[in-house]
Amino acid sequence: MPNYTYNCVQCHEFTIKQSIHDNHDIATCPTCGNTAKRVFTSFQTYNMNPKVKKRIEAGQQPRLISGDKLKVNTSSTPRSQTNARPWMAGH
Ligand SMILES: [Zn+2]
Repeated sequence: MPNYTYNCVQCHEFTIKQSIHDNHDIATCPTCGNTAKRVFTSFQTYNMNPKVKKRIEAGQQPRLISGDKLKVNTSSTPRSQTNARPWMAGH
C-alpha cells in the first residue's frame, strides 16, 4: 500500500499507509485523534531507492550553482548584447 503524508496542527506531519481506495483528503491523527489535512509533496521520493534519491538530491545542487553563475554572467554581459536582444529587456 502507498504511504500518505498528513499534517496535524498539534503533532505536525505523519505518514501512514492507506489503501488507494481510501479518502486521502483528510485522515485521523494516530497520536491525538485530530483531523489532519493531506500534505502534497512536490517530489515523492519516499518509495525510491536511497541511491536514486541521493543522486536526485545531488543533481539539484549543481543547478543552483549554475543559476548563480548565470547571474554573474548576465551582469558582466556587455550592453551591446543586451541591446541586440530587446525582447529580453522585459524580464
Ligand atoms: Zn495529532
